[in-house]
Amino acid sequence: MLFAHDTECGLTATAALVNTTGPDREGLPDVAALDEFFTAHAWTGRHEHTEAELRDVRALRPRLRRLWHADPDEVVAIVNALLRESHALPQLIRHDDEPYHLHAVPRDAPLATRMAVEAAMAMADLVRMDELSRLRVCDHPDCDNVLVDLSKNRSRRFCDAGCGNRAAVSAYRARRAAAQS
Ligand SMILES: [Zn+2]
Ligand SMILES: [Zn+2]
Repeated sequence: MLFAHDTECGLTATAALVNTTGPDREGLPDVAALDEFFTAHAWTGRHEHTEAELRDVRALRPRLRRLWHADPDEVVAIVNALLRESHALPQLIRHDDEPYHLHAVPRDAPLATRMAVEAAMAMADLVRMDELSRLRVCDHPDCDNVLVDLSKNRSRRFCDAGCGNRAAVSAYRARRAAAQS
């Protein structure tokens, strides 16, 4: 494990949230989609199933995506602003069979606030360990998904959406075409 368990979970969850949107797609079109995302990514605590909650979660994403493209000083500015706006106060807590980990806002804080703070706390760890290079954009030319490279040898190039396979298939076809010409 490179980072603390809650840091790795926070990074992965943040990338997943950022990847629910792109130039021509909306992965959180309605409240039901957010419900599904909530369950799929093992979120717990307050969940309102309302349009307002959905709107706040969607509005958070561009700011989080920016973390993947910003220089370290800008990352720090975003992280500090998110923590300040959310009145973050780190506390070690234990719930649902999980070992002690940090929460910086109460479990009944709004979902978008908790997502913002979880992202900020995880990013704070990356900054402190000088590991922002772990934040990457998928190498596939047709994909703008972000990813967090948690591999030991920093070898991860593709997102979770099957781009590694797609790239392997195109490389194979290109080799075959070259061999036949
Ligand atoms: Zn927790
Ligand atoms: Zn991809």
